[in-house]
Amino acid sequence: MRVAIAGAGLAGLSCAKYLIDAGHTPIVFERRDVLGGLVAAWKDADGDWYETGLHAFFGAYPNMLQLLKELGIEDRLQWKQHTLIFNQPDKPGTLSRFDVPDIPSPFNIIASIIRNNDMLTWEQKIRFAIGLFPAIVRGQQYVEEMDKYSFSEWLKRQGIGERVATDVFIAASKALTFINPEDVSSTILLTALNRFLQERYGSKIAFLDGSPTERLCQPIVDYITAGGGEVRLNAPLKEIVLNSDGTVKGFLMRGLNGEPDELVTADFYVSAMSVDPLKVMLPEPWKQMEFFQMLEGLEGVPVINLHLWFDRKLTDIDHLLFSRSPLLSVYADMSNTCREYANPDRSMLELVLAPAKDWISKSDEEIIAATMADLEKLFPDHFTGDNPAKLLKSHVVKTPRSVYTATPGRQKYRPPQKTPISNFFLSGSYTMQRYLGSMEGAVLSGKLTAQAISEAPLVANSSHLQTPTRPPAKNAATA
Ligand SMILES: Cc1cc2nc3c(=O)[nH]c(=O)nc-3n(C[C@H](O)[C@H](O)[C@H](O)COP(=O)(O)OP(=O)(O)OC[C@H]3O[C@@H](n4cnc5c(N)ncnc54)[C@H](O)[C@@H]3O)c2cc1C
Repeated sequence: MRVAIAGAGLAGLSCAKYLIDAGHTPIVFERRDVLGGLVAAWKDADGDWYETGLHAFFGAYPNMLQLLKELGIEDRLQWKQHTLIFNQPDKPGTLSRFDVPDIPSPFNIIASIIRNNDMLTWEQKIRFAIGLFPAIVRGQQYVEEMDKYSFSEWLKRQGIGERVATDVFIAASKALTFINPEDVSSTILLTALNRFLQERYGSKIAFLDGSPTERLCQPIVDYITAGGGEVRLNAPLKEIVLNSDGTVKGFLMRGLNGEPDELVTADFYVSAMSVDPLKVMLPEPWKQMEFFQMLEGLEGVPVINLHLWFDRKLTDIDHLLFSRSPLLSVYADMSNTCREYANPDRSMLELVLAPAKDWISKSDEEIIAATMADLEKLFPDHFTGDNPAKLLKSHVVKTPRSVYTATPGRQKYRPPQKTPISNFFLSGSYTMQRYLGSMEGAVLSGKLTAQAISEAPLVANSSHLQTPTRPPAKNAATA
């Protein structure tokens, strides 16, 4: 069957890949001239890459790892030492590590917490362990119930002081959701902690060996094309055109450069756009339906990704670092962490600025100046004194609406992949799946959509009824 998909982010591409495996013919339409959505990257005039976001892969990403394996590119992940590294805001330039020993979970994580005395007191550790007990015993049900509390409120309920939230969990909160612990739903952090506690290598981090566009998205496109599908760039969906019964008649594609608009028809239709453009594009009759009204509860969160090239090496650390600063979230020296960006003499820092709501409308110069001031605390040896490191060039990528804003109470607004419209489905990391607004969530959502389509009955007025038989889906989603 022919399936039209709007959006070539990881969700749309994963959906198309698994539709190919199930014997269908997907055609993906991407409005921009670049693949990947939130993982998109560009090459500048010097041949240097810059990206929408600094992306870390985790051991607890079974669907992403499975996808890479199926594409034969799992060796493109550069796995780092099993440790989490945090800056110490009170002691500029010093780091605190949670080294995770290679023993079964959850003992590996427990050992890493017990051995680190920089960030939590013994009393806080014990209270935190007691607080996590219901999450471990009652699992995801308890984690979902906690969606009503912010993480700061949850910590308070466990008798753990607010200082821990602002000092310690600010790192995890900003890294996972680009918002602060007082604003983030506790379901997010508890879900991540649960996965890390349950999987031996769950918290192990990897970087891709080059740009996500070339090294991750392009191989998915090659797979789709080889299987008889298609991916078109510069192909914006303009309107979802309906039949009189409210099902989809076609995707009206905007004609560019004077070309006329084109109505594309298929057996099934998928929105793999992020939630904000989808809300704008909902046809009037659908806006009256409770299912689609729920989308009003979701909205993308602003975030900024910076790339700073320096005249010298600032660090030899080959890992993700959690800044614990109010301005910055995570960062990495990509000249160490990523094969294609490697440089033995000069650092290229990629840094995530979050929360970004007060910064998104500021100029690049203001954003860089504030970041450079922060770097004096992260690298005091290189940015103070007579011969400070010189910034050679920079790129600032602003995303006013990225992943859905994971404030308390959002879980109930996240829709399933199957909608009440028989020939219309949703994909995207904002849709309901257990891996939150992440690359893993996007890949899993696409896989779930492909499964739902393979199980769906054909719509009577479909324009492509000539291929009614469908083989069963080959790959079951790893939940
Ligand atoms: C700064 C940053 C850092 C991140 N770090 C991490 C990380 O370390 N680890 C991790 O797992 N995740 C991370 N993420 C999150 C991750 O990138 C996303 O969750 C994931 O890529 C979302 O994929 P998606 O396909 O659901 O949505 P998107 O990537 O938003 O894809 C939607 C696509 O739809 C297209 N589209 C929109 N409107 C139309 C239209 N009218 N017609 C056709 N196409 C349209 C868009 O152009 C886009 O390509 C990060 C994100 C950012 C921004």
